[in-house]
Amino acid sequence: MENGRIIVTGGAGFVGSHLCERLLREGHSVMALDDFTTGSPKNVAHLTRDARFKLEVHDVTQPFSFAASRIYNLACPASPPHYQRDPVRTTLISVLGTLNCLLLAQKHNARFFQASTSEVYGDPEVHPQPESYRGAVNPIGIRACYDEGKRCAESLTMDFNRTHGVEVRLARIFNTYGPRMAFDDGRVVSNFIIQALRGEDITIYGDGSQTRSFCYVDDLVDGILRLMEHPEERGPVNLGNPSEFTVLELAEEILSLTGSRSRIVYMPLPEDDPKQRKPVIDRAKAVLGFRPRVSLRDGLTRTIADFRARLEGVPRMSSAGLVASR
Ligand code: NAD
Ligand code: UDP
Repeated sequence: MENGRIIVTGGAGFVGSHLCERLLREGHSVMALDDFTTGSPKNVAHLTRDARFKLEVHDVTQPFSFAASRIYNLACPASPPHYQRDPVRTTLISVLGTLNCLLLAQKHNARFFQASTSEVYGDPEVHPQPESYRGAVNPIGIRACYDEGKRCAESLTMDFNRTHGVEVRLARIFNTYGPRMAFDDGRVVSNFIIQALRGEDITIYGDGSQTRSFCYVDDLVDGILRLMEHPEERGPVNLGNPSEFTVLELAEEILSLTGSRSRIVYMPLPEDDPKQRKPVIDRAKAVLGFRPRVSLRDGLTRTIADFRARLEGVPRMSSAGLVASR
């Protein structure tokens, strides 16, 4: 890759902070753009000692202009309770944020990566989901702000490529978890771990028979980098771990790994909650050489250790050094 700064929008979020860390480790200069809607400066506090890292507080719905050779667009709340809190804004973040990034990529001749999502498949009737599946999204439901916002971002991405020649990379990311997820994130892995560690009830929505396929964050970041640096592949490419579990199995695994005595309680299933989700990753494997390596058990063990350390207020180590606890 030619020299030049890399911009990561949403760089102070869960995935974004891991991506910034990895890019710095590989010797790049990185600017994280974030307005802390769901992220936190604490997620990148350990990176700010590096002179090649800059954290810029900026809302991506507003235009911005920084020179860059690569732009990774991750800015968007990703957890259902967070993206449903201000749904109009969620749509605007996806649409305007992506537009502003694409305009910047066009201006600086930069390559653009869009963090799309398995949610573009909605509540899928095809299982597992290949990239060719067009999805079953309810366009007027409570998840539409996120799903349709991301679908529109996909179409903007491909239109800037077709009509303006911007180099683009489009990944559809499936459920990813790992250290540094916010305690109040609201997604299933972080909820169950924090509940188990605090001895609170484990809240299963519905009967727990719905499935998800959980990818450890390091595996995802590896796939993101492989796609960004691929000489030709625009995507869409599914990135995730195809090992599929029911939500009840996930709860039982977390109870066993934490040794918690929390009870499982059942709560109403949210509207439009997808019943099943599992990526077909043949394209990522064949074209990118992508191989998710971390099993659910190993990934959960690492994530639980991180949550435990943060709960106890103990600074924890990461591959990049000491990480502030939150
Ligand atoms: P996250 O909520 O931890 O991170 C999102 C980051 O974007 C946060 O730091 C937040 O403050 C920032 N942000 C939100 N609105 C912004 C705005 N207007 N301007 C600037 N920054 C803004 O979520 P995550 O899990 O790290 O997800 C990162 C990206 O990956 C998102 O785009 C998400 O849709 C996508 N994704 C994640 C998953 C997953 O399982 N983690 C799955 C599919 C797609
Ligand atoms: N879920 C649950 N309990 C929780 C949080 C989530 O049972 O405390 C369920 C949720 O209803 C969904 C699955 O776990 O079926 C994954 O939810 P998450 O919010 O992590 O991601 P998404 O639905 O976007 O895949």
